[in-house]
Amino acid sequence: MLVLKFGGTSVGSAERIKNLAELIKSQEPKIVVLSAMSGTTNALVEISNALYEKNTFKAEELINTLESKYKTEIKDLYKNPIILEKGKELIDSHFGYLRSFIDFPIFTEKEEKIILSEGELLSTTLFHYYLSERGEKSILLPALEFMRINRDGEPDMGYIEEHLKEELKKYPDSNVFITQGYICRNAQGDIDNLQRGGSDYTACIIGAVIEAKEIQIWTDIDGMHNNDPRFVDKTHPVDELSFDEAAELAYFGAKILHPTCILPAQKRNIPVALKNTMQPEAKGTLIGNLKTPGGIRAVAAKDGIYAITIKSERMLLAYGFLKTIFEIFDKYRTSIDMITTSEVAVSLTIDNASSLDHIVAELKEIANVEVEKDRTIIAIVGNITKSDAGYGVKILDAFENIPLHMISYGGSEHNISVVIDSKYKKEALQALNSKLFGY
Ligand code: ADP
Ligand code: ASP
Ligand code: MG
Repeated sequence: MLVLKFGGTSVGSAERIKNLAELIKSQEPKIVVLSAMSGTTNALVEISNALYEKNTFKAEELINTLESKYKTEIKDLYKNPIILEKGKELIDSHFGYLRSFIDFPIFTEKEEKIILSEGELLSTTLFHYYLSERGEKSILLPALEFMRINRDGEPDMGYIEEHLKEELKKYPDSNVFITQGYICRNAQGDIDNLQRGGSDYTACIIGAVIEAKEIQIWTDIDGMHNNDPRFVDKTHPVDELSFDEAAELAYFGAKILHPTCILPAQKRNIPVALKNTMQPEAKGTLIGNLKTPGGIRAVAAKDGIYAITIKSERMLLAYGFLKTIFEIFDKYRTSIDMITTSEVAVSLTIDNASSLDHIVAELKEIANVEVEKDRTIIAIVGNITKSDAGYGVKILDAFENIPLHMISYGGSEHNISVVIDSKYKKEALQALNSKLFGY
């Protein structure tokens, strides 16, 4: 079985959806995971924000605009009047449901998550109808029946495996399944999601639990590039990445992959291919249990970082000081990305500031604390072993004109990270592109 995931742009218009039907044509059994049509989840976020603000006029306007986009697309998508009518009814029912939230007396995170799930429910059903118009049989698998996160927001792998396999068993003669990326239920059974960009995560979780032959992530670029193409002019795709390298790049901001999606595939050793829907013949990137060449492969940047400096009130860091600090972060379930220490101070970074005030208040009981926001971690990823010389110099050379706040080298053989003020991000990525990749 293959798992094929198609992102927003790959299902973004009638033309793209038609193209998709061609791309999945092979005889091999497959589960097709779809995102919402591009722009939809952002629009649903805006609708939710308007509803939080009780701005009914704005919410109505946003819903109308989104609905008319869908109505236009289906006219181009379906030729058969019966299927077109079914498509219209589907859109009427989903947008009618969205409108019902306008008069809803309360609007909480629970309602927001229901709204955010609408995009994937629409795209998968519209695609399923399109395949039926072509006379191709497919089964729509409802993700809300098997995708589930636990109390910690992590995928509940045991539950997912059991329930997905139960769903698949119902259709022993079928070999094309379509399901929604991103959406799931939480431990309370309410509709939830795997965070923005989460369709990649859905695909990798499904691929892991069914032990797929391969997980293919189809998107709008020909694989993982050596640098972020949104900020740097010249980049090139990387042919192969090890699981560790890909996981580091995804975690540290390479948007092509959801930050934690590699882990489930890595655990079961399922190869992940990154492919371009606009250029299916391009090689893309293969991620697997691969022995990749030494040296630096790619760089990525992660924004929204808080840097916290904790200075011991005594002259030297006493025994047990670090333990006390870590326990405070642990208590508030806040993970630390980077850490550097000196005799009297510890600097560390976090990306989740939801408990920052509590953490700082507790840290202040034992030390002087300073918090800086709007920081970016630049991660330089590859195979840099303890016996390699020269990489430190090359990397630091790129930061000749950029103030460095923290450096982390040696924690992992796959990642050297630095923290800078976010305003220097583009300059830093460009400088690294020239010093490390010769652009
Ligand atoms: P999808 O909607 O298919 O999930 P995304 O927008 O989430 O697509 O991811 C693809 C985008 O990721 C690319 O268009 C590119 O701009 C961005 N990106 C950021 N860093 C990288 C990188 N290192 N390699 C490739 N793409 C990257
Ligand atoms: N539609 C969701 C989002 O825009 C999930 C995804 O595209 O992966 O974040
Ligand atoms: Mg994505």
